[in-house]
Amino acid sequence: MSNEQTFIAIKPDGVQRGLIGPIISRFENRGFKLIAMKTCSPSKEHLEKHYQDLAEKPFFKGLVAYMLSGPIVAMVWEGRDVVKTGRKPETDQFQPAILGATNPLNSAPGTIRGDYAIDVGRNVCHGSDSVESAKKEISLWFSPSELLQWKHSQASWIYENA
Ligand code: UDP
Ligand code: MG
Repeated sequence: MSNEQTFIAIKPDGVQRGLIGPIISRFENRGFKLIAMKTCSPSKEHLEKHYQDLAEKPFFKGLVAYMLSGPIVAMVWEGRDVVKTGRKPETDQFQPAILGATNPLNSAPGTIRGDYAIDVGRNVCHGSDSVESAKKEISLWFSPSELLQWKHSQASWIYENA
């Protein structure tokens, strides 16, 4: 489906390190379409909800503190298979994807985390891990009116059947 959507966020370290442009470029250059974007500083409650599946993990408190440490750039990208192209499925640690693996040291060069990060707790970006979690995350971070439908003038140069 070329209208699949994923939630991608540039974490506080990515923003502070001047990586907004390079991270956006990876998705834009690949041919994906930017549907929504904002710079924001969400509350602790919002971030705990975003990472609620990890609430029992020992790194949870540190993760929330990391996410609260500065502005975040939140985005929705759209395109064919954008969720799994954006990040590796949990079942296949070795499949390269635009983001790379959770631990940057396991991320191939050419991926965002493989090129720009070292520590797992400073891995510069977030990407939804399934179409279902993308839907949940998009509705947590954006209201429907913030999601823009627009025609990509390059669509027929990116998709055979656009
Ligand atoms: N994280 C961490 N220590 C760990 C595992 C994860 O600090 O041992 C952080 C890391 O920033 C990661 C986030 O928690 O991106 C969410 O973890 P998840 O397993 O969902 O990884 P992701 O989906 O971001 O690849
Ligand atoms: Mg995750």
